[in-house]
Amino acid sequence: IARSEPPPAEIGAAVAALEALDPALAEALRAAIGDELPLNRRDGGFVRADFDPALDEARALAQDSRRVIAALQARYAEETGCRTLRIKHNGMIGYFVEVPSAAGEDLLRGEARGRFVHRQTMSGAMRFTTVELGELEARIASAGDRALRLELAHFERLVEQAAMAAGPISAAAEALACLDVTAGFAELAAGAGWSRPAIDRGVGFAIEGGRHPVVEAALREAGTAFIANDCHLGDAAGPGRILLVTGPNMGGKSTFLRQAAVIAILAQTGSYVPARAARIGIVDRLFSRVGAADDLARGRSTFMVEMVETAAILNQATDRSLVILDEIGRGTATFDGLSIAWAAIEHLHEENRCRALFATHYHELTALADRLPRLANATLRVTEWEGDVVFLHEVVPGAADRSYGLQVARLAGLPPSVVARAKIILTELERSDRERPKALLLDDLPLFAAARPPAAPDRAPAADVRPEADPLREALAAIDPDDLSPREALEALYRLKREL
Ligand code: ADP
Repeated sequence: IARSEPPPAEIGAAVAALEALDPALAEALRAAIGDELPLNRRDGGFVRADFDPALDEARALAQDSRRVIAALQARYAEETGCRTLRIKHNGMIGYFVEVPSAAGEDLLRGEARGRFVHRQTMSGAMRFTTVELGELEARIASAGDRALRLELAHFERLVEQAAMAAGPISAAAEALACLDVTAGFAELAAGAGWSRPAIDRGVGFAIEGGRHPVVEAALREAGTAFIANDCHLGDAAGPGRILLVTGPNMGGKSTFLRQAAVIAILAQTGSYVPARAARIGIVDRLFSRVGAADDLARGRSTFMVEMVETAAILNQATDRSLVILDEIGRGTATFDGLSIAWAAIEHLHEENRCRALFATHYHELTALADRLPRLANATLRVTEWEGDVVFLHEVVPGAADRSYGLQVARLAGLPPSVVARAKIILTELERSDRERPKALLLDDLPLFAAARPPAAPDRAPAADVRPEADPLREALAAIDPDDLSPREALEALYRLKREL
């Protein structure tokens, strides 16, 4: 917005609301209420000195009475010859004179008798009152009461005055909030290299040079540059695309996912966005499943929470929604997790047809891009330097070739013996995996099975994966060749053939 243009209507309205606020109330509050306030108004002391002469007088009297009590105590101590005589106060009997028991006996008997009226005998002490003390007490109490009554009356009056201005006060609060948010957005737009997003009613999603504002700010403080990344999740014509993001831990997957969501929210809030350019078809709902938020106190395990959240997404996301899923299936055994992630992607692609970012460490899933036309693979680039992994934080098309878990573990400071042992175990696992590669599974699995009507559970993918469900295999497994005569073997062969 050029400077010469008039400010937007919202700003004008906010300024008008602030101007409409009567300054008399603020002045009245400032004049009457002190700087240090009690927690409870019944404690008093919140009205400023010099505000109300009657209050000042009552307070002075209460103060003064305390000085008189101190003088009285000194006089009684002198007169009775008891240097440890004290005038004290408690809630039960008010003000009293307290002396040690021996001195108390003297007061009961000696010439002081009659002036000192016995009130209580304690272990080791006696308590008395006097006419003078009683009068003083009445004066102090009434001065204190009067002061408090005056304070509370001022309070009531101010509350009434404030309540009368309730409408303009809340309008002013709203105006301040509006100015605050707008000024914040303006500052970011002008100073942080943000750009004005284009928003339309399609289902496109194209971010160029997107950044995560919080991570970027944190890195800037550490003197590191944030690597901007593009993110394309479809054109206005739709339906949306799913980007399957693989890459090593610490590569920047979570950051990439979250920044897409943050940019969408900012754009729809009316803010500029941390990107070189962004075109976003209005997102009807943003779904995210990120991080492991334990809910053990409510009796739900991490994995249960993960599944509940995933269920909500798969059941509710529409073709206008934006979904970010960070590592689903991680909280359970590998095959369970892989199967769930796999089926979830198929469901998002076929049923929800939403725009989605799906980060995973299951590299097996990248093969799905060959079969699902709107699924694309993206990975975070890394390079190796002197045996260490170096994260480039750059999102490029394609799949990660490996997860670099051991390198990350080493960077994190796992004992070298553990890293070395893990390397041996990994080599062994990879060897056995090569002999029975999981990639074959992909060819065995009928894709889009998830898209079939749920009324045919016997044809669900799980049933196809499990060879045990095959009657032919079961029959074959039941045969023990060592137990068969040649004739029985021939019959068994015929039986098996009939099973086909
Ligand atoms: P992953 O989810 O792959 O484990 P994260 O998204 O948690 O990785 O990122 C790990 C760290 O890498 C972040 O805390 C941040 O310091 C850094 N990082 C992530 N993305 C970028 C980026 N685009 N540019 C620079 N540093 C980044």
